[in-house]
Amino acid sequence: MNKPFRIAMLGKQGAGKGTQCSRISDQFSIPHISTGDMLRQAVKVGTEFGLKAAEFMERGDLVPDDVIIGTVVERLTQDDAVDRGYLLDGFPRTLAQAKALDSAIEGALKLVVNLDVATDIVLERLSSRRVCEGCGRTYSTTNPPTNGWVCDTCGGEVVQRADDTPDAISRRLAIYDELTSPLIDWYSEKGLLVTVEGSGDLDIVTSKIVEAINSVA
Ligand code: ADP
Ligand code: ZN
Repeated sequence: MNKPFRIAMLGKQGAGKGTQCSRISDQFSIPHISTGDMLRQAVKVGTEFGLKAAEFMERGDLVPDDVIIGTVVERLTQDDAVDRGYLLDGFPRTLAQAKALDSAIEGALKLVVNLDVATDIVLERLSSRRVCEGCGRTYSTTNPPTNGWVCDTCGGEVVQRADDTPDAISRRLAIYDELTSPLIDWYSEKGLLVTVEGSGDLDIVTSKIVEAINSVA
């Protein structure tokens, strides 16, 4: 792939996009741009963008396209993203977002990784997931931090996300099927898609993604 690296990760909620994106971002020094993290930060700080997004997020609904697209495109035109590229986690998530990205940035994506995990596995992962409020590191009820619910990395509080409740989880997965999964065919037809089976060992999944990146590098 001609540098900069321009990659997007697709996958259901709980497929492990966040975890794999942090690893890849460290390994290749590419900015990891997670729209979920950007939105949660905006909600926490209470910006206008955050205020608009909060009610949608809590229900498990998508934030409207016009709210998210401008913010992402603005982020992608910052120096680090222009120099190094980006690893998009959680964007695009609708056909409208994919089209907007395409028209805002020429050759916006060189590779789309579809991290594929069966629904029964993601359901189990999401209901046991716990997340650090400070740095976003993910834990689970079966893989908790060393000392209580205090993050091993940053000392932040480790909590259950407001949208990891059974109602919001089923809503998010239904929206994924309806609005996001069509992107798999869309990018496949453009010849950009590589599907990686995401249910196995974390290191093996990472190495398959690295292989996909190297194959287009
Ligand atoms: P998940 O994929 O596990 O639902 P994320 O952290 O990626 O979690 O996103 C959390 C929430 O942020 C989503 O449920 C949605 O409300 C909002 N969000 C994130 N990315 C987008 C996007 N590209 N378009 C619209 N809403 C988004
Ligand atoms: Zn932390």
